[in-house]
Amino acid sequence: MSCMYCDAHNETRNKILIEVGTLAHGSTLFILKNQNHLGRIVVALPVHRQEVYELTEDERSNFFADVADAAQACAELFHPDKLNYGIFGDGVPHVHMHIVPKYKDGLQWGHFFWDKGLEEVSLSDKEYAKMVNDYKAKLGIK
Ligand SMILES: [Zn+2]
Repeated sequence: MSCMYCDAHNETRNKILIEVGTLAHGSTLFILKNQNHLGRIVVALPVHRQEVYELTEDERSNFFADVADAAQACAELFHPDKLNYGIFGDGVPHVHMHIVPKYKDGLQWGHFFWDKGLEEVSLSDKEYAKMVNDYKAKLGIK
């Protein structure tokens, strides 16, 4: 099976993610269709690397700059009480950072975040489109 962050036609990718576009330092920004943490996004490295230690210094620096920009946009758009950041990759071994807005007294506040076993929260097509446009406007993505 192809890597969903490298292959735009990957079936799983189109089932669970919406591509927003390319960030200033080359990474790709995605919205998770499962919005159980409102505003949740993923920033994917533009090249296929499995582990953070495989990145060159430039790749690390560019990736983290994109993560910071995306995180700031998330904070400004959704006003969470705290952002969580996660790199896992057991399922998809391509370096990508989950950016998860957490809200006081909301889902998993005070704990790490996870998906498994939770009911998915889907938005309407119109709401996803607005979220994509809001992120694009905040981040200057065309
Ligand atoms: Zn990949």
